[in-house]
Amino acid sequence: MALREIRKEGDPVLRKKSREVTEVNDRIRELIDDLTETMRSVAGVGLAAPQVGVLRRVVVVEVEDQLYELVNPVIVETSGEQFEDEACLSCPGKQGAVHRPAYVKIEALDRNGNKVSYEGDGLLARAFCHETDHLDGILFIDKAEEIEEFEV
Ligand code: ZN
Repeated sequence: MALREIRKEGDPVLRKKSREVTEVNDRIRELIDDLTETMRSVAGVGLAAPQVGVLRRVVVVEVEDQLYELVNPVIVETSGEQFEDEACLSCPGKQGAVHRPAYVKIEALDRNGNKVSYEGDGLLARAFCHETDHLDGILFIDKAEEIEEFEV
């Protein structure tokens, strides 16, 4: 495993659309492990492959000690609404509230290429939405009603 450099706002890679993974192979598993290690090194809740400069549809999310490794994730069901502050490892010093569904169901492939599905609400639902947005070049600052800036 290795730490990878987290790309920051202004880096064009964050604005590109990531490609689907066609085969979950060792390279993808290494990417998953690096994303997890990098996310944990900065106490993050989630990290998407484009944030380390890799335009593949892979994200990791970790909430309440549960790690979610998601390849080609697709949000298949949502309900309700929440409006809570978000931040992003690629946008240091910024936070702002974003409208998200209160409940999200997500389908993906796991690290072995098996189909998995997870349901989340609260922070987990926000993280699923925030990270899948990254795969389409969308940052939370695009959706936040107001951005608060602070010193980092
Ligand atoms: Zn982010």
